[in-house]
Amino acid sequence: MTDRMVIVGASLAGLRAAQAARKAGHEGSMTLVGGEVHLPYDRPPLSKAYLDASVDGPESPTFRSEAELRDELELDLRLNTWATGLDAGRKMLSLEGAGCGELEYGSLVIATGAKARTLPGTEELAGVHTLRTLDDAVAIRAAFDTGARVVVVGAGFIGSEVAAGARKRGLPVTVLEALPVPLVRSVGEQMGRACAELHLANGTDLRCGVKVTGLCGADGRVTGVSLDDGSTIPADLVVVGTGVAPNTDWLAGSGVTLHERDGGIVCDETLATGLAGVYAAGDVAHFPHPLFDGLVMRLEHWTNAAEQGMLAARNAINPAEAKPAAGVPYFWSDWYDSRIQFVGIPQADEIRVVSEELGEDRFLALYRRGDRLTGCISIDRPTQIMKYRRLIAQSKSWADSLEFAGVG
Ligand SMILES: Cc1cc2nc3c(=O)[nH]c(=O)nc-3n(C[C@H](O)[C@H](O)[C@H](O)COP(=O)(O)OP(=O)(O)OC[C@H]3O[C@@H](n4cnc5c(N)ncnc54)[C@H](O)[C@@H]3O)c2cc1C
Repeated sequence: MTDRMVIVGASLAGLRAAQAARKAGHEGSMTLVGGEVHLPYDRPPLSKAYLDASVDGPESPTFRSEAELRDELELDLRLNTWATGLDAGRKMLSLEGAGCGELEYGSLVIATGAKARTLPGTEELAGVHTLRTLDDAVAIRAAFDTGARVVVVGAGFIGSEVAAGARKRGLPVTVLEALPVPLVRSVGEQMGRACAELHLANGTDLRCGVKVTGLCGADGRVTGVSLDDGSTIPADLVVVGTGVAPNTDWLAGSGVTLHERDGGIVCDETLATGLAGVYAAGDVAHFPHPLFDGLVMRLEHWTNAAEQGMLAARNAINPAEAKPAAGVPYFWSDWYDSRIQFVGIPQADEIRVVSEELGEDRFLALYRRGDRLTGCISIDRPTQIMKYRRLIAQSKSWADSLEFAGVG
């Protein structure tokens, strides 16, 4: 039986898993399998600095050099290689691509993240993109360079950052959102409306409650986006930001339980999948959060992927002392010159603005569930919000939190 740790998915959660495994004393062999040709790289800059015209030839967002990965972490690094099957009985993976063949594991961390959803039937049309990978960002940056008229489908975080990047270059941008208010599932209705104000203040044509019925094209290139009211919005570049789907097709029939809603991997609070030695981490993993009464969630946030990658590896090495994934969720998003930050969870009985600076686009609001503080959102209050992350970790009461905010 091998003591090899195999990590599938060579991005943030996968890399952090490898680093944590070595730090925790794993001396056995370790293989990192990644489908992309690139070394593990950071995704947040792809929708920010990478699209900025003032950043001349943006730096590669690679985390570590190949030498660092192979030598320092003693990694058997298999890029351009896809895991296509898992035989849990034999503890064996099937691989296709550059590092193809079968690979036996002692422990396995699945960190295959998620892929962007596309608009069905538009795959062959030039000028239509999603933004998940470095290659996507290169293509969108090139389209920005040509002065494209931009239409973004979906006013979520990625779509909104693309819109902000285009406006910074002075490009005309329309954002189409099916919901009456953007970001309701991420930050709630009231705060979704406040975020939407940033678009309007920066000249982005945000249209909510509209339905895209299709794309128009000529000579294989996109020329516009059709709406259900019969109108067409001209476009040279369409960026589809309608969410992601976990990369788990390859696990069909493996015995790993997949979530009925989105196919993500169902884990327990230690990120164990239920199959011996198999853990999951990052954007792919559903888990019950111990701080929020076991509420099951799948987070698509950088900090969560980093923290869970480390935890999954440590728990895989030492399952007898496995710890729960208990970090308070946190994400940020940069729109125009503002930074939106969120800690905790958005499901709330009440949202209370605790700063009076709404009119100046700088504010902080708290989320209550029952009698506890469970969330906090801020725009341009970076030091403040981290204090509330600590309060949420301590399960502080609503009354104490309001007092802390000076409004109790
Ligand atoms: C453009 C962009 C901007 C973002 N900005 C922010 C931000 O500002 N703030 C924030 O908090 N979060 C942000 N995020 C989210 C954050 O980057 C993700 O939460 C994080 O990348 C998730 O890491 P992961 O390792 O779980 O998955 P991923 O980064 O999705 O990596 C999974 C990797 O596994 C590979 N893979 C998939 N299937 C297989 C297979 N079968 N075999 C081998 N390899 C496979 C994929 O190709 C991919 O390389 C952003 C994401 C994007 C795309």
